[in-house]
Amino acid sequence: MEHYIDNFSDDLGPEKIIHIYEPKSKLKAIVVIDNISLGPSLGGCRMAPDIDDREVFRLARAMTLKNALCDLPHGGGKSGIIADPKTALKEPLMRQFAQSIKELVNYIPGPDMGTDESCMAYIFDEIGRAVGRPKVLGGIPLDHLGMTGFGLAVSADIASEELDIPLKNANVVIQGFGNVGKATAKLLAERGAKIIATCDINGAIYNPHGINVDALFEYANADKLVQLSGLGEKVSNQKLLEIESDIFVPAARPDVFTTSNQHLLKTKLVLEGANIPITHEAAKLMNDRGITIIPDIIANGGGVICASTEYKGMTETEAFERVKVTIGRNTEELLARIKDSGVYPHEMAVQMGKERIAQAMSFRAHM
Ligand code: NAD
Repeated sequence: MEHYIDNFSDDLGPEKIIHIYEPKSKLKAIVVIDNISLGPSLGGCRMAPDIDDREVFRLARAMTLKNALCDLPHGGGKSGIIADPKTALKEPLMRQFAQSIKELVNYIPGPDMGTDESCMAYIFDEIGRAVGRPKVLGGIPLDHLGMTGFGLAVSADIASEELDIPLKNANVVIQGFGNVGKATAKLLAERGAKIIATCDINGAIYNPHGINVDALFEYANADKLVQLSGLGEKVSNQKLLEIESDIFVPAARPDVFTTSNQHLLKTKLVLEGANIPITHEAAKLMNDRGITIIPDIIANGGGVICASTEYKGMTETEAFERVKVTIGRNTEELLARIKDSGVYPHEMAVQMGKERIAQAMSFRAHM
């Protein structure tokens, strides 16, 4: 029987797919180590009830390319714990997960959707290997600092200049108002953009005059419904995808747009905050409709750059500097390369990542 991996595996990986089942704690998890050419793999640990090995593999591959693009001495990996992130058993699950990956030294977990710095603290306590830890344990609080949103704003600065989409008064729609969405909203609003719509899992709000982002923060914590804030009209999450904008930032789940619904998006520029939010085939169709997409592996590397900075024992200030320089340079290079080349942004981004892996591999003796 053909397995999905037969269609996806290539010269980059995956190197290992591990399924974990531990009956006593009811832990069910998947770890994919995609590629370790540049060093031990670094990638988030996601907790969601519906995660499967195909999703974890695709996320791990995105990390392989992203880590290479960000000049990090790390390969790509990812893990998924199959559970409701609101479970009361989070700590024992994380501790059991840590024990289960103890010998998997080529995988360094970090926080992702459904996990946070406390989860990384539990893993670190068990096996001494995790990034995105609390400050008191030597961590740089990447979500609290909004590192990924900071990188997206850097990317927005460059793209808006290059594509002549001024950020001042730009209409911005942000899908997801979590760690990434909130920081992006704040930084783009500071640049004069109008955040006209955003959402959480429970619903969306829309205000064509711009939502008061600072006021919205109060309602977004602890998973309160953003639409309760009274700061705009309540609309469905589906409707949010159809609101016309200058900039659209997906900052929630994968595969939000596929070939079957890509036609709904009416915007000029997409900054991919989430990982793999638009399938490559859908992205091509959008590109043909005149939408420029800055792919996830170019735009949302802020978090992993910060995680790697923590792993090296460097400081928060150095992390911000690295994010600014790296994301800025990669956005510039991508836009320069796609101009008049006929190559789609996602394909170009993958090509850039592969080139860097090949370059690094040329210095390795035994790969
Ligand atoms: P988060 O859990 O803090 O926030 C996610 C937000 O999306 C929440 O507001 C949630 O309610 C909303 N959401 C979830 N499912 C939704 C749905 N089906 N429809 C609409 N909204 C939905 O997560 P985060 O850390 O902000 O990460 C968001 C995305 O960005 C993920 O895809 C993650 O992998 C990616 N990412 C995060 C980082 C990081 O530094 N945190 C770095 C790179 C990429």
